[in-house]
Amino acid sequence: MPDLILNEEEQMLKNTVREFADRELIPRAREVDETAEFSWENWRGMANLGLMGIGIDPKYGGSGLDGYRKVAIAAEEIARGDAAASVSMLAHLSLGTTTIYRFGNEEQKQRLVPPLATGDKVAAWALTEPGSGSDAAAMRTTATERDGTFFLNGSKTFITNASVAESIVVFANQDRSLGYKGIGAFVVGRDSPGLKINPLHGKMGMRGSTTDEVVFEDTPVRQDNILGELGRGFNQAMDILDSSRIIIAAQCVGIGQSALEVAIRYAQQRETFGKPIAQHQAIQFMLAEMASQVYAARVATMNAATLKDQGQSFVTEASMAKLLASEMCVEVANKAIQIHGGIGYFQEAGVERIFRDARVTTIYEGTSEIQKLVVARQLLRQYAI
Ligand SMILES: Cc1cc2nc3c(=O)[nH]c(=O)nc-3n(C[C@H](O)[C@H](O)[C@H](O)COP(=O)(O)OP(=O)(O)OC[C@H]3O[C@@H](n4cnc5c(N)ncnc54)[C@H](O)[C@@H]3O)c2cc1C
Repeated sequence: MPDLILNEEEQMLKNTVREFADRELIPRAREVDETAEFSWENWRGMANLGLMGIGIDPKYGGSGLDGYRKVAIAAEEIARGDAAASVSMLAHLSLGTTTIYRFGNEEQKQRLVPPLATGDKVAAWALTEPGSGSDAAAMRTTATERDGTFFLNGSKTFITNASVAESIVVFANQDRSLGYKGIGAFVVGRDSPGLKINPLHGKMGMRGSTTDEVVFEDTPVRQDNILGELGRGFNQAMDILDSSRIIIAAQCVGIGQSALEVAIRYAQQRETFGKPIAQHQAIQFMLAEMASQVYAARVATMNAATLKDQGQSFVTEASMAKLLASEMCVEVANKAIQIHGGIGYFQEAGVERIFRDARVTTIYEGTSEIQKLVVARQLLRQYAI
């Protein structure tokens, strides 16, 4: 079904990533979920396609494909193949690498970005703490200066990729009395003294991605690893989240699309009362609703990406896309289980994994409630009386 008008380059990218996902990701997805281990095979496959450097200038090792539309297309197709692989890619590209690329100086970009843009090294992005998620400005991790070096103390939690990352972008407060205006962004290398990374276990879904606790005990950060102006870290983090929500929305579209496809195939095979369940109007209606929901979320996502690429205001549209797409993929995956009946509740059908993977999307990168706050704030400003 042609869902959006993609230009030739975008259609080629979509086809290439889809073929890779069909060939490499889908056949491995169940095993990766069961072992709950980061798949380097998936990572290298994505890196070989140049996906870790989309939107990054070739002079810093990027693949030279510009724009959020392209990242969104790739993210959707990877998530359709294996949602966990897409989380690893997105935390690396849209969060970690993009923060260095956007806010780093020329020397930092030349030194840090090339191995990340090629996927030779992995990046992570550490904002959330045990006591501060939605309310990120309430973070307690500190960056204290002694003799020209900053020392980090505190801990971050739920950090995707941390245990496989070479570079971790960390937000810490140099002066808590300044509130969010005291927060800075620092790049910490994996071998830094006083850095401990503890993998978190027992995650409901996205099990092929690592989610870790990161602890700092007097961890020194080189002066040349401070990103941009100290005190601007909170604004940098919010800026990055505004854009990366578009990409999470695309991930959700891919998850919804995979649930839809699995459900359509099953509905044509399973027979009840002498005919395939796809011949029952109740099932047809469910499939039609699912397809419409995926379509609407895809259009909203690509519209937000287009606004961003054109340099127009996009923040409200990005939040609306993330809200719609994440709620959509949970509902669509749930309906896909319903269409499968009892077998949908078992691993064998593969659809319960899609549902478990989908479930986190209304929580991370800003919960649905936080997206509603962003949208409502804009509405009240726009229609202020
Ligand atoms: C698998 C996974 C991967 C993650 N990866 C990363 C990562 O790479 N880097 C990183 O920094 N973080 C990461 N996170 C953290 C994630 O972004 C946070 O969990 C998320 O922002 C929510 O924060 P919280 O868990 O502290 O929930 P809380 O902020 O405690 O929220 C709890 C509930 O209260 C609601 N709530 C909070 N404030 C308000 C309000 N003002 N109005 C209405 N409702 C409100 C929330 O919507 C939610 O329902 C990850 C999380 C998971 C689960």
